[in-house]
This record gives sequence, C-alpha cells and structure tokens, in this order.
Amino acid sequence: MSSASLASETVVLGAGLAGLGFATELPGVRLFEAKRHPGGHAYSHQADGVFFDEGAHISHTKDATFRDLIHRAAGEVHTGLASSVRNRWNGVWTGYPVQNHLRDLPEEPRISALTDLILEQVDSAEETVSSYRDWCVRQYGEYLTDNFYEVFTTKYWRRSASELATDWLGGRLIPSDLPNIIRGAFSDQISDQATFATFHYPKRGGFFGFFEDLYSDLDIAFGNKVVEIDLHRKTISFESGADEGFDRLATSIPLPTLINAIKDVPASVRDAAGQLHHTKMLCVNVIVERTDVTDSPWCYIYDHDIEPARISFPANLSPGSVPNGSSAIQAEIFRDETELWGDQDALAEATVQQLGDLLGFDAKRDVTTLHTVDVSHAYVISDHNRANAVDHILSWLSDQHISSMGLYGRWKYLWSDAAFRSGQQAAMSMKAEDGHH
Ligand SMILES: Cc1cc2nc3c(=O)[nH]c(=O)nc-3n(C[C@H](O)[C@H](O)[C@H](O)COP(=O)(O)OP(=O)(O)OC[C@H]3O[C@@H](n4cnc5c(N)ncnc54)[C@H](O)[C@@H]3O)c2cc1C
Repeated sequence: MSSASLASETVVLGAGLAGLGFATELPGVRLFEAKRHPGGHAYSHQADGVFFDEGAHISHTKDATFRDLIHRAAGEVHTGLASSVRNRWNGVWTGYPVQNHLRDLPEEPRISALTDLILEQVDSAEETVSSYRDWCVRQYGEYLTDNFYEVFTTKYWRRSASELATDWLGGRLIPSDLPNIIRGAFSDQISDQATFATFHYPKRGGFFGFFEDLYSDLDIAFGNKVVEIDLHRKTISFESGADEGFDRLATSIPLPTLINAIKDVPASVRDAAGQLHHTKMLCVNVIVERTDVTDSPWCYIYDHDIEPARISFPANLSPGSVPNGSSAIQAEIFRDETELWGDQDALAEATVQQLGDLLGFDAKRDVTTLHTVDVSHAYVISDHNRANAVDHILSWLSDQHISSMGLYGRWKYLWSDAAFRSGQQAAMSMKAEDGHH
C-alpha cells in the first residue's frame, strides 16, 4: 500500500503535539480534535494582547532536529534565557533548588538541613529506594525532605512522597552535589545547578508560537469529542453526532477516556484504566498595571496558605511580549481528578489577592485583566500502580492494532519534544508494519 493510501485509511484522535508528530511523519491523515483549536497542552490562550500558556512552558530540548523545526516555525526566538527560579517557603524567598541555596534559610533551618543532608550522604550507601520519599531522603536528608519536598509534593502532585514512584524523576529533579550544597550554605551560589540552566521561547504567540505554523496544512476536524469506538465495525462516534470509519487508528487522548469509549473491553483492562490518576489545573491569568513585579521567569510556592504551587511571568519568558507599563502573571493551582474545585470564580479572586500580597500590587486597583483556564488533565500521577496498569492497557491496545501515543496516550510524563517524537514513532511503526521503509 502506498503512504498516501495508508494515510487516507488512518484516523488520528487528538491534535496535540503527538498528533502533530504523527501527521508530520504520515501526511494526509485525518485528525479529530475535541477542542476548537490545535496544540493540546502546548496551546497558548490570548487575553487582552498577552499569550498565556497552559501552565508554564519553555523549551530546553536537546534534540537538535526538533529544535531546528520549531525555531524555524516560530520565526523569531529568544534563546539562552536564564532559568533563575525562586522558591517561596515559610514567608521567605530562597534560590532554587533549595539544597543549593541554604544560605537563604534562617540559621536554624540551615544548620538542620545541612546536618541531615551530610549525615545521609555519609551513611546510606546500601539503602533501597522504593518511593519518591526514599529518593528525597537519600539525596537531600530528612530535614529538607520533610520541610520542603514533602510540602511541595502534597501541593503539586496531591500525594505524599511515599505514594509516588521514582520513574518520573529523570530530567525534572537533580541528585545532590555536595560541594555545590556546601558552597551555597555559606556564600552566594555561583553556578546554578538546575536540570537546565537556560531555555528558548518564541518572541510571539506564547509557547504555541513554536508550533502554530506546523499545523497549517493538516486536515483537522475540530469540535469532535470521541464518545464511542466500535472495533468490530471500525467506526468512531463523536459527541457532535458525526460518525467516522477507519482502518487504522492512532490516538493521543487520555487512556481512561479511550478505554471508556471502546465497546467490549475486557474487565482487567477497564480495572487497569481505573487505577490511573492525574492532576487537573486552574490557570489564573492576570495583567496588572505595574512594571517591576519580579525578574524571575517562574517560581514555586511551597506555602499552603497561598493557593498556586507555581507562578510564571510571560514578560520574563518572552521579553517584549507584554504591553509597556504592565506585567502578566500566571498562577497554577492543582487538584487531583477526584477533588472538587468549588466556586472557581471565588478561588480566582482569592488567588489574585494572594498574588497581590506576595508580589506587592493592589488586587483591586492594579488588575486590568483576570482570565482563567480550566485544564482537565495536568500531570500524570506516577504512583506505584501506574507502570503495571499502563503496560497492561497498552499491550491490549496493541493487540487491537490501536496505536496510543503522547503524554496521556502513554500515561507518562513527556516533555514537548518527546510527545512530538512519540507521535512520529507511532507513524513510523505503522508504516513499517505496512511494508514502508
Ligand atoms: C502544566 C504543564 C507544563 C508543561 N511544561 C512543559 C515545558 O515547560 N516544556 C515542555 O517541553 N513540555 C512541557 N509540558 C509537556 C507538554 O505540554 C506535553 O508533552 C505535550 O503538549 C503533550 O502533547 P500530546 O499531544 O501528547 O498530548 P495533549 O496535548 O494532551 O493532546 C491530546 C489532544 O487530545 C484531545 N482530546 C482529549 N480527549 C479527547 C476526546 N475524547 N476526543 C477528541 N480529542 C480529545 C485534547 O484536546 C488534546 O488536544 C508541560 C505539560 C503540562 C501539563
């Protein structure tokens, strides 16, 4: 079969970056997308002239081909922006990551943190690491684990650190580097040891500026939310009332949504889908008539009396992208999928007040725009059941010749480059099965 006829028989569900990767590798496929826009989690929402991403997004890809592709598509890109991030903890600002900036802590916590960390490093070569908590204690000692990492984990991941596995850590957290830690306890840190020191960001259009052009030739049917998939008849029904036939199916919609939509799924696969958990996120996007809010691109808020766990600043992600005389702020508030939001407007108002107190603006007088985006799926929660449940589901899907790809199709944290590649890979495998090389 030619590539063109394979493409014409293939339906792709979801027009996020995995869908984009798939369609780039196998041009001519039909994509069906629940929303009215492409991009999925990589989309940027415009409010009063400012682009706000769905939670802080930056590119630090090491994949040169991907970087060239998205930089070309964006046209103009800020490169080498510094990721000088800060933490808010117990009412004080500290450098990030905290273990490398212990000098920012008051004296007693500083001594406790350093003592526990060094004792742990000297003492624990044989300890087994079976949870995120074990990993934190092993790397950072009891004091920092209890007072920082646990505190943030319950706010951001909505779980205690002992409930989480360690398979999500690569590229997100860094192991201890003792000389750096000791330096940071006594003097200003000179080398910031972070997972990435600099990042790239489009000059226009928010993070989605990297991808918008790449979607221009794709055949995407928007406003089509999948509700039922019949594998015997090879048809998909959408909430809009439309039906679509397919010969090959590739999908990046969340695994539990997919499994719920498919008719006649074995009980063990349904059970496995029921074991998958994720967070959801409310983005509270604000524009204020103030210029000097902060010079950080984003910061993490450990204190639980402040709702957001992370706050980012579009003007520091993309200098020049926010109108003169004002600042833009995005606050990210997380819950797990079972927690109720309550009154979102009231939550947004309370968050603006907290941001004003934290950043020194007047929530009543200075705010010109308040805009919220409710993101139903934020992060996959990597608890101890995730890996086995995902393997079971993916192996059944593969037996049905369904190709599941991307962040929520693999149900594992993927950066944007890996999500795109996951789609490309799925298309390459489909072509190889079909005899294309
Ligand atoms: C808060 C947050 C911050 C992040 N920050 C970064 C970062 O700084 N740098 C980075 O590189 N990556 C970052 N990422 C990761 C990046 O956003 C993702 O890897 C990538 O966007 C995932 O693309 P995808 O296509 O796999 O999934 P998605 O973007 O989820 O795409 C799936 C698509 O399927 C659609 N869909 C869902 N259900 C249905 C249905 N029933 N019917 C039809 N369509 C449906 C969705 O609307 C969506 O468009 C971040 C992710 C999050 C959540």
